[in-house]
Amino acid sequence: MALVNEHFLKLPDNYLFSDIAKKVNSFKVVHPRARIISLGIGDVTRPLPQASIEAMHRAVDELANAKTFRGYGPEQGYDFLIDAIIKHDYTSRGIQLTPAEVFISDGSKSDCGNIGDILRHDNSIGVTDPIYPVYIDSNVMCGRAGTLENGRWSNVTYIPCLSENNFIPQIPDHRIDIIYLCYPNNPTGMVISKDELKKWVNYALKNDTLILYDAAYEAYIQDSQIPHSIYEIKGAKKCAIEFRSFSKTAGFTGVRCGYTIVPKELTACTLTGERIPLNKLWNRRQCTKFNGTSYITQRGAAAIYTPEGKKQVKDIIDYYMTNARIMKKGFENIGCKIYGGENAPYLWLKTPNGISSWKFFEEMLYKANVVVTPGIGFGPSGEGYVRLTAFGKREDCEEAMQRLKQNMF
Ligand code: PLP
Repeated sequence: MALVNEHFLKLPDNYLFSDIAKKVNSFKVVHPRARIISLGIGDVTRPLPQASIEAMHRAVDELANAKTFRGYGPEQGYDFLIDAIIKHDYTSRGIQLTPAEVFISDGSKSDCGNIGDILRHDNSIGVTDPIYPVYIDSNVMCGRAGTLENGRWSNVTYIPCLSENNFIPQIPDHRIDIIYLCYPNNPTGMVISKDELKKWVNYALKNDTLILYDAAYEAYIQDSQIPHSIYEIKGAKKCAIEFRSFSKTAGFTGVRCGYTIVPKELTACTLTGERIPLNKLWNRRQCTKFNGTSYITQRGAAAIYTPEGKKQVKDIIDYYMTNARIMKKGFENIGCKIYGGENAPYLWLKTPNGISSWKFFEEMLYKANVVVTPGIGFGPSGEGYVRLTAFGKREDCEEAMQRLKQNMF
């Protein structure tokens, strides 16, 4: 008899996006003519950079020819992409990495979720709250999160990020084995300063904590003082793994490509106290369970580092960040408290008069026909907020702001 992994049964069904869809559909039945604008979409809408499209076409042609055909590639990724990442994303910021520390993947969701394979099931976990739900759910699946009690997992420390603390996560007063940090943050759109990030690195070094640093949105950082990588902080190579993605940087949500940095000097312990390099374990894990990102995809990703690719990526990001500015200004003009959106494609709106996330979601839907994402879906500290994204079309952002002004505030 095959037995299931019963930890999966502890996972509550994720109703957030299906509940949103249900509420929008019931609204449409009663108001069939309403044109609904979604400011909640988490997917990009701009097409791929031209440089990537051309590189992928060329890669297809190579695969079509017996002389240039390629089959399985290296599990860790092709050198041409790894070298470009090191040069443009790290050396340019004064960070030295070797190719063996970079692992190309099919996106950072997989890596954030799979990294737990190389870590014991009984490590304690810390997350900033609200957060990208993959961090917690992937730990629930292997039993590491404990049991769900009043909407919180027993083995998870929730570090609240609220307007009251300016969304700056406070260093825990106890030691935690593994901490997830995500900056720029999904869902709040807030960033972390070098000084604050230093505090986390120092905490990790002092407490032998592993930081899992998700920098999927680093390309959106506009302020030159904000760190793009945790390795800009001294000592971070000894305590942190970093995840990055081409999804929101270059429209690769459907193409699928990301990468993970596991520094050679990063170690964690066995129960007997022996220190084991995590790079070696992750390499073993990837070689066993992953057969590499497609050649075509990696060629497309490498093209964003060419001069024309860089310019095209900048144009895409500028487009979304202009949307973010329009929305932020629009909400501020109507007297709302809105956060993020300056160095990230997300905006985090505090609901007026303390009404619940879902109630405000419904008000926006019914009064302005605008869809947002209720903050409670991202964790307990998300109650009383809604998330907006800048990934929509410009004309929709503008119209949504007009409708909100006329019909709601
Ligand atoms: N990390 C964060 C914080 C995200 O918001 C997302 C996607 O929404 C991901 C990782 C996953 O990105 P990818 O498309 O590379 O899997």
